Amino acid sequence: MALSLICPTKDPVPWVAAIKAISPDIDLRIWPDDGDKADVSFTLVWAQPQGIFAQYPNLKVIASMGAGVDNLLQDSSIPDQATVVRMVDPRLVSQMGDYVLAAVLNHVRQFPDYVQQQQAHQWQPMQPRNIDEVTVGVMGVGQIGSAVAARLRRLGFKVVGWSRRAKVLAEIHVFAGQDQLSSFLAASEILICLLPLTAETENILNTGTLGQLPQGAYVVNVARGKHLVEEDLLSLINNNHLAGACLDVCRQEPLPQDHPFWSQPKITITPHIASLTDPVSVAPQIVDNYRRMITGQLLLNWVDRQQGY
Ligand code: NDP
Repeated sequence: MALSLICPTKDPVPWVAAIKAISPDIDLRIWPDDGDKADVSFTLVWAQPQGIFAQYPNLKVIASMGAGVDNLLQDSSIPDQATVVRMVDPRLVSQMGDYVLAAVLNHVRQFPDYVQQQQAHQWQPMQPRNIDEVTVGVMGVGQIGSAVAARLRRLGFKVVGWSRRAKVLAEIHVFAGQDQLSSFLAASEILICLLPLTAETENILNTGTLGQLPQGAYVVNVARGKHLVEEDLLSLINNNHLAGACLDVCRQEPLPQDHPFWSQPKITITPHIASLTDPVSVAPQIVDNYRRMITGQLLLNWVDRQQGY
């Protein structure tokens, strides 16, 4: 039995080192030179070439190197019998929290406006809002979103959440399902998107939904670029319904040179870095799942392939 890393856009060396450090006995291989593919029962993947899994006749587990599995699940060569798992990791959660707090506070304390003032050599104090008067809406209160919501609440914001199924979180009202989406949006002065990308959530941030946010609302998308209809966001910023946005993800990454987001001062762009998987932090769950596969136990952090997350 072997574990093969298939990650053409990532350096596999730190991953191999992290796994070897806790389990030197695993037969680790690196695609494309991973020898006889019939030996491989477990793959650890990111941005794999589509169709690649057809080459592995004995594949049992496909582990995503990240929390999101949208790109992976589009691969029609995933064998029916294979289990897909993903990373659920406290480092991923805390890094995302840091990013979201930075984005939210940056907006509330009007830093983008002061950057513009600085460029114009202007000195013009503005009254900030108090954070306990601002409601932040977290769209998707799963592993990451629920922790981010709790951190925002601890900081003093009013926080609401939205998920598919009803959920109870301390001091946070969670709206659930399509029926309650409008009420959630109407309450959200700052909207954080932390949904997985699925057939149901693609393009969910559009004129119809973003238009239901209160006048002057701010949008933070740290999930996937395809959640957002980009021209709808631009129109709502240009007509002053929205105050601006902070986007870690875009429909096309890297963002094309001529994209209008670059020159819209009310939009902050970062290159998909909100939260990056740390191989050392996730190596124990990879090794645990590898052992669970061998002993036939239920795998950790398995993905519901029908549901898409
Ligand atoms: P989870 O699967 O743990 O949580 C997903 C949440 O979204 C759940 O609350 C779920 O509801 C909700 N949800 C899913 N579909 C719907 C729907 N149709 N309507 C309403 N709510 C829905 O995911 P994570 O928290 O681990 O990660 C979320 C996403 O964050 C990832 O998929 C990834 O795309 C993104 N991400 C981005 C990173 C970056 O650097 N920019 C880094 C890491 C992750 P329910 O609870 O009812 O199931």
